[in-house]
Amino acid sequence: MDFKFTDEQEAFRQEIRDFLKENLGDEWRGIDPDSYFHDENWPHIRELTSKLVDKGWLTLAWPEEYGGQARPHIEQMIYSEEMAYFRAPTRDASMGTDLVGPTVMIFGTEEQKAEYLPRIADGTAVYCQGFSEPESGSDLASLQLRAVEDGDDYILNGSKIWTSGAHRASHFYLMARTDPDAPKHRGISVFILDMDTPGIEVRPIINMFDVHYFNQVFFENVAFPNAT
Ligand SMILES: Cc1cc2nc3c(=O)[nH]c(=O)nc-3n(C[C@H](O)[C@H](O)[C@H](O)COP(=O)(O)OP(=O)(O)OC[C@H]3O[C@@H](n4cnc5c(N)ncnc54)[C@H](O)[C@@H]3O)c2cc1C
Repeated sequence: MDFKFTDEQEAFRQEIRDFLKENLGDEWRGIDPDSYFHDENWPHIRELTSKLVDKGWLTLAWPEEYGGQARPHIEQMIYSEEMAYFRAPTRDASMGTDLVGPTVMIFGTEEQKAEYLPRIADGTAVYCQGFSEPESGSDLASLQLRAVEDGDDYILNGSKIWTSGAHRASHFYLMARTDPDAPKHRGISVFILDMDTPGIEVRPIINMFDVHYFNQVFFENVAFPNAT
C-alpha cells in the first residue's frame, strides 16, 4: 500500500501554506490565547474566517446540502494540519465547525439543520460553550441549570461559568437539566440559544492579568421555543 499523498493533495497543502503565509504575514507567531477576544485581534480573526469561507475551506468536507464542499476527509486533515502548524486562529469558527455542526447533522431535526448549519458554514455564527457551572466542573453530570417545559417553551434558569468568549458569541451551545428525577448523568439536554435571547446576561470575569477571556452567564426565565 502506498501511503504517500497524491500530487493533488500536495498541491492543496502548498496552496494552504501560501494562503496562510500571505494572510498571516512573515512575523506571525500565533496569538497569545489570553488576548484572543481582544479588540486588536478579534477583527483580524473574523476577517481570516471570512477568507477561509471564500476559499471554501471552512467546512470543506461537509456535505454540500449543509453548505460544505463534499471534499474528501483526507483534504480536511491536510487543511487541519496546516492550520495547526501555522497556529492559525480558528477559535471563532471551530466550535461550530467541529462540535455543533456535526452534532446537529447527526442528531438534529431537518428544521434544526436548516436553522443552524448554513450560518456555521458561512462563518457568521460564533459559538460559545456552556458546560461548566459554579458547582459543576469535571463532574459535568452534576450540572444544575434548569430547563423546565412550560407550554410551547422551555424556561431556563441558572448560570454557566468560565464561558470563553461569550461576549463575542452569537450562539450558546449549552447543557441544561431537563429531568431532575433521572439519574444525574441522564436527564440532561443540549440547547442552542441565540445570545440575544431576553433573560441572558453575560458578565465578564477579568482575571489577575486584567484579561477578559472568561464570563459568567446568567439565565433568568429565558424562554426557548420547544419546537426549535
Ligand atoms: C482556558 C479554559 C477555558 C475554558 N472554557 C470553558 C468554556 O468555554 N465553557 C465551559 O463550560 N467551561 C470552560 N472551562 C472550564 C473547564 O471546562 C473546567 O475548568 C473544567 O471542567 C474543570 O472544572 P473545575 O475548574 O470546576 O475544576 P474541578 O472539577 O473542581 O477540579 C479541580 C481539580 O480536582 C481534580 N478532580 C476533580 N474531580 C476529581 C475526582 N473525582 N477525582 C480526582 N480528582 C478530581 C481535577 O482534575 C482538578 O485538578 C474552561 C477552562 C479553562 C482552563
